[in-house]
Order: sequence, then C-alpha cells, then structure tokens
Amino acid sequence: MMIYADNAATTKMSRTAIAAMLPYMEESYGNPSSLYAFGQQAREALEEARSRIAACLGCEPRELTFTSGGSEADNQAILSAAHLGGRQGKRHIISTAFEHHAVLHTLDRLKKEDFQITLLDVHEDGIVAAEQVRRALRPDTCLVTVMYANNEIGTIQPVGGIGAVCREAGVLFHTDAVQAAGHLPIDVTAQNIDLLSLSAHKFHGPKGVGALYARHGVALSSLIEGGAQERGRRAGTENIPAAAGMAAALADACEHLKENAARTTVLRDRLIAGLSKIPHAVLNGDAKNRLPGNVNFCFEGIEGESLLLLLDDKGICASSGSACTSGSLDPSHVLLAIGRPHEIAHGSLRLTIGEETTEEEINYLIAAVQDAVAYLRSISPVWRDLERGKTPHII
Ligand SMILES: *Cc1c(COP(=O)(O)O)cnc(C)c1O
Repeated sequence: MMIYADNAATTKMSRTAIAAMLPYMEESYGNPSSLYAFGQQAREALEEARSRIAACLGCEPRELTFTSGGSEADNQAILSAAHLGGRQGKRHIISTAFEHHAVLHTLDRLKKEDFQITLLDVHEDGIVAAEQVRRALRPDTCLVTVMYANNEIGTIQPVGGIGAVCREAGVLFHTDAVQAAGHLPIDVTAQNIDLLSLSAHKFHGPKGVGALYARHGVALSSLIEGGAQERGRRAGTENIPAAAGMAAALADACEHLKENAARTTVLRDRLIAGLSKIPHAVLNGDAKNRLPGNVNFCFEGIEGESLLLLLDDKGICASSGSACTSGSLDPSHVLLAIGRPHEIAHGSLRLTIGEETTEEEINYLIAAVQDAVAYLRSISPVWRDLERGKTPHII
C-alpha cells in the first residue's frame, strides 16, 4: 500500500493533462517558429494553451509568458520589477519571512545589488495583514511580493487586500501563486495583481513548465538570451506538449475547483481532528484559512526526519516541510517565522492530500502517525526528560 500525502511537493499528472500532451509529441511536433503550416499547427496549440490559462486567471493571453516552472517565474517577476524600479531610483522591496526560496534567494541576490529588502513578520496564525504591507511602504518601494498560499503551512494570504494597498500606492505587486493555482480562485484584475507565478506540476500538470502573468504595461526582462520566442521575454524553443498539458490541467482544476475544495476540506479537517488527539501536538497555521489539502503539525519531543522514515516504512509519502529544504538539518524558516521555537520546529510533519485521497487513507494516516509518534517518544531521551519534568513542555 502507498499513500501519497505530499501533494504540495508535486502532484500526479491527470489523464486529461497526459492526453492533451500526446498529440504534440507524436503528431504535431513542429517548431512554432517555423513558417510552414506544420510549424504553425504547433504555434496554434501554444496560443490555445495560453488562452485557456488566461481564462482561468482572468487575464489576457498576451499577458502570459511560459516558463520552466514556478522558480523561474518568481525569479523573472522579481528581477524585472527590481530593474524597473532601479531605473527610477526606487530600490526598496517588501516581502515576507516565509516565502518560498525561489523568492527569498532572488531577494538575497538583489540585496547584493544594493536593493533594500523589508521582510514582514508573519503572525503566529501564518497570515500577513494588508495593513502590515501598508505600514512598510516607502516612497522608494518598487515591489511588494507576498505569496498567495504558503507551501509548508498552507495559510492563505489576503492577496486582494494587499493588491489594493499596492495599487493605491502605485507599487507593483507580485504573488507566488504556485500553491494556490487550481486550488483557490484567482482573478488578477479584481485582486489588483501585477505579476503572478504558476507551476503546472502543483495542479496535476507536467513538471518543468509554468507561467508568469505580467499585467499589460509591466515590462519583463528576459532571464535567458537567445531567440525572440514569447515576444522576447523568454528565449528558447517553446515546450508545446508541456504548455498543452498545463492548460488542460488548469482548466480541469478550475472547472472543478469548488467541489474538489469542498471534498478535500472535509478530509483535511478529519485528519486535523485525528492528529490533534496526540498529546503535546500543535497545528501550524490557521485552522480554517488554509489550503483545502494542507495539514501541518509540530509534535514535541520527536525528530521530523525520524518520523518521515517510519511513515515511509508504512507506505506513506509525507514531508517535514518543503521538499526543497528537507535534507538540510536546519529547521524550517516558515515554522521559525511563525514563532515556533527551534526544538519544536524540528518535529514537524506536513501531510498534503488531494483529489484522489480517500476516507480510508485518512483513517490509515491518523493511526499511522499516532503510532509513529508514540513509538518515537518511547525511545526518546528528550521526551523522557519532558515527562519527568526535568525540562518543561512547550506545547
Ligand atoms: C513548488 C513551488 C515553487 C517552485 O515551483 P517549481 O515549478 O518547482 O520551480 C515556488 N513557489 C512555491 C510556493 C512552490 O510551492
């Protein structure tokens, strides 16, 4: 038995997405830049994919640039906005302490180029208020970048409110919507979003493809030198099968968004209720204002890595935080950002369920985690000290 509970790391490709890709690998494999009709078939497929994605976001097709995924879209959005700002002498950027590393590391790079970065504190509930953004604005602020939903704790940010604050101040607003797309409603116009990043493999599309929405009039600088593909914003022969698969997956997800979210939320809340019965455990992030499939707990007195290995033995794919940080022994920057002490942040578990998750799997997950935590505590000297009162319980 295998239970896949790591949908925030990546998702299984849908049959719809695979079916949409095959014709552009087997039959219409032309280069969209070629002038002959066979190449133009590929161009039409690319533009159709762009239109389908635009319809899901409420933007115009020409406002979308295909990228290699969420990381590239984040890099390009932030670097482009910084370059635009820098030319006007505006070198201040506002973001948050719990962004994905694709955002944080790009900001680190800009810091070395003499940009000033304000990272907003995140409240214990895992949410940044629009008012915090307003208070941090300066006359030289050129960009605000705040993620739509956090990839570790799933909390949903007030993107529309932040967008309104930015638009009023005339500052560009970028949101990393990689975890939100296909799972939460997005309307870039109503939400006053200027730049938005997407990645197909987080909503049952293929890996290695994403998109960057840039509102008409916001000039993107290209990260890659080469041909004039994507109207000069992204050189390199377009990946037509990937674009078609991404569009099919997103259209499918958007069409069934409400029912999928409703169903997944019920299972998520059942899982949260079951894991909350474990003593000295705490849910990370607001209980309600979170992605339909996200569950993230800290358990006192255990190591997250050991828990993952035990769960792996039971056929469960889970994570201690983001796939990108596991492997390093540092505790998650997200859990530290919401104020979890180091000792506790080490004992975290993220389970992210999806459309395919069943009720039986939820029951199995609850029992498996309860057993694994109890076992690890039974052999843990740290836990023994806590139980004997030598060290005080934190949670
Ligand atoms: C997965 C993820 C990314 C990176 O996307 P890739 O397509 O894997 O490069 C960026 N931001 C968030 C919030 C993510 O969850």
